[in-house]
Amino acid sequence: MKKILLFLIIPILLFGFIILSKPQNVHNFHKKSNAETSSNLTENKVPMLAIVIDDFGSYDQSGVNLILQAKPIITGAVIPSTEYTEKNIKDLEDAGCEIILHMPMQSHVNLPENWYGEVYIRNTDTPETARMKLSSCLKDFPKIYGFNIHIGSGVSQNEKLMEAIYNYAKENNLYFLDSRTIETKATELACSKTNSIYLGRDVFLEADKNRSYSGVVFRLKEAANIALTKGYAIAIGHVGAEGGENTAKAIIDTLPEIEKMGVKIVYLKDIFDMLNS
Ligand SMILES: [Zn+2]
Repeated sequence: MKKILLFLIIPILLFGFIILSKPQNVHNFHKKSNAETSSNLTENKVPMLAIVIDDFGSYDQSGVNLILQAKPIITGAVIPSTEYTEKNIKDLEDAGCEIILHMPMQSHVNLPENWYGEVYIRNTDTPETARMKLSSCLKDFPKIYGFNIHIGSGVSQNEKLMEAIYNYAKENNLYFLDSRTIETKATELACSKTNSIYLGRDVFLEADKNRSYSGVVFRLKEAANIALTKGYAIAIGHVGAEGGENTAKAIIDTLPEIEKMGVKIVYLKDIFDMLNS
């Protein structure tokens, strides 16, 4: 019952952060010393859009089967240590998707501890504790490219912790996606200090109140237009209570139109590699 409440109430609170958190287009990029090889795709300089789907692993599995049956080019972000974590990692692998860790991090407001799952980074953690928690969560993932933020509006504002997170990512050849669950400069400052590549969410697909099908289609096209202007864009949508079947259906139906706009749908790693080349 606690888990049911957890996955019903968190999305309602998070929605407030989502609609308040506007995308920013100014980035300060720094090359990574251990650069990985760029894909042919990125060398072609085609505008790229990465669609990251959060909340795989959550109790509410709505939209999971629908989106994965279409085998789309998406990056699936999986919550660690839930009853669905292992299954959803396998589901994503079978569908050929890129997989990242959806790392639970503490909010800036008081939420019950059990809302975060078994392991989460707290606002008061030391950098060393944060690194240990990341390591323990990554053990669930046989093949992984990076991680982003689940909840996290408190930790995102803690520059010391964000520095530890960026350093951890660099040392482990992972990328870190700033989901921008709250408006703050701390993440970008930490990224700059650690000489890391900045990846930030441009659009939340369910930014309208109803999380409607037409709202998600609108946001997808908005993301495609950002890609046409900036060269790339990163959109985040959700399975489960925050998005589910409406999001899945809208993505499946709209992808052909986005490609017709001249925007290539890519994995998030392709954008990271392009920025790192
Ligand atoms: Zn989440």
